[in-house]
Amino acid sequence: MGDRTHDRNPAQWESSVGDMLAIGASVYIACTSRGCQKPSRLSLEQLVAKFGADFSLWDRRAVCPHCGHVGHYMASPSRGTPYRPLRSGVEAAAKRQLWLSQFSFSVRDRLRIQAMAERVTRTWSPPPLRDLDVPFVVGACWPGDEFRSSGSFLGHWNQMTLLYWPMNDAERETWAKRPRGPRPI
Ligand SMILES: [Zn+2]
Repeated sequence: MGDRTHDRNPAQWESSVGDMLAIGASVYIACTSRGCQKPSRLSLEQLVAKFGADFSLWDRRAVCPHCGHVGHYMASPSRGTPYRPLRSGVEAAAKRQLWLSQFSFSVRDRLRIQAMAERVTRTWSPPPLRDLDVPFVVGACWPGDEFRSSGSFLGHWNQMTLLYWPMNDAERETWAKRPRGPRPI
């Protein structure tokens, strides 16, 4: 069973929305905000229709539709079976957090990246951000499209994939001359 202190890998039925739909699983978003904690049931049919059967919720951050707070996905394979979090566990999460913290994104960077990711559609991605507070180019794309991009995987936001590119010398020079102060989100 899911033990918070041990990492685990997804069971077969947990590995994609198609597999979960096939066995009649139930999925919801667990909100971790103290003031909200409202569960949001999700339709696996809609997720398959929108992202394809191979789309995975494993270790993906979820956004609570009630309050916008970050939560995670919970799933149960059948009625009467306890829900388990669709994530690898605290150790894997801590490693990921450590890796992400190496980028030292500022709060403003995070807000701008999130706003960019929320504008992604199936056929269109906003231009990558080149004037963040850290010298990385960050873009967002529809989940699955990262395989057609030269960018490296950074993470997920609101089900979209975030990508990053290290800057070359010329890009870094331009970045160093970026305007200071608040920039539009
Ligand atoms: Zn919430």
